[in-house]
Amino acid sequence: MKERSRTPQTKKIARERLAVLFSLAQAIFSTHPALSSRYVEIARRIAMRQRIRIDREFRRQFCRHCSSFLVPGRTSRVRVHGGNVVVTCLGCKKKRRYPVGRDADNGQ
Ligand SMILES: [Zn+2]
Repeated sequence: MKERSRTPQTKKIARERLAVLFSLAQAIFSTHPALSSRYVEIARRIAMRQRIRIDREFRRQFCRHCSSFLVPGRTSRVRVHGGNVVVTCLGCKKKRRYPVGRDADNGQ
């Protein structure tokens, strides 16, 4: 299967697909939230197959446990606690913590 190969070209295409899938997930969430999570699943599968990291801006938009597309107030609850941003997935109730003030897109 051609899709199985991993070259710089396929990785580049995969990254573009991730961006498209996450923007689709965002766009369709208000009407079809379940479909948003489906896009997340597809995006994660592509990333895994190509062994690429999902960009920071996208990584916080889904639950790593159940692949729900996370929208604050809808599918996630966001709280600041002890210098951390605590994001609770309302789908599986798992929590993730991020240090406050690391939202800037400046690498790791
Ligand atoms: Zn979840």
